[in-house]
Amino acid sequence: MATIAENLQAVKARIEQARERGGGAARVTLLAVSKGQGVERIRQAVEAGQKAFGENYVQDALRKIDQLPELEWHLIGPLQSNKTRLAAERFDWVQTVDREKIANRLSDQRPVHRPALNVLIQVNISGEATKSGVSPRDVAELARAIAGLPRLRLRGLMAIPAAGTRMEFHRMRSLYDELRGELGLDTLSMGMSDDMEQAVAAGATMVRVGTAIFGRRERTEAAT
Ligand SMILES: *Cc1c(COP(=O)(O)O)cnc(C)c1O
Repeated sequence: MATIAENLQAVKARIEQARERGGGAARVTLLAVSKGQGVERIRQAVEAGQKAFGENYVQDALRKIDQLPELEWHLIGPLQSNKTRLAAERFDWVQTVDREKIANRLSDQRPVHRPALNVLIQVNISGEATKSGVSPRDVAELARAIAGLPRLRLRGLMAIPAAGTRMEFHRMRSLYDELRGELGLDTLSMGMSDDMEQAVAAGATMVRVGTAIFGRRERTEAAT
């Protein structure tokens, strides 16, 4: 079985090839999605040079952040209002902001001794009722509201396009381009293990990859 270091290499090569085929951003950041992985496996990725990690559940992430505080931690799972304080205190990025109430709480609760919290707006680009995210037509209004909050730094947009839907990646790119200049955005987060090439070709600046780096997740952590 391939090691985590070998998997990381292979993922980077896939991203680079997709970027070179054209249309891609000058630079693509790799976020290693470590949900369901223990600290030991995260350490192996760190030893192979990986610095940014994504977690879905606040509570599960805290144990890992406690042990590896020097890494860059991104929250990529849905955020309920009763968890905003922990998210504001412990994460470096929150990628799943989809309403003003959550943004306001994160800004109010971000500790003054830490730099402004980096945030992305999650867009429900597939329009499925079961998916989280703000609808595409409401993105601009939410983005302008967040840009005015003192303790947040709006970096861009995030989405989970339905697998195999090239259109949705391109619609995300258009939304991003419409707001980028006005609001100084630099991050378009989309693409996972199975569709990172499509995402990069459409202009993703960050891909979130779990399985292709760590292998299949052995356990599902509780969403508590
Ligand atoms: C789990 C997850 C990923 C990574 O998915 P893989 O298919 O394992 O690469 C990326 N983004 C989000 C929001 C996720 O929940």
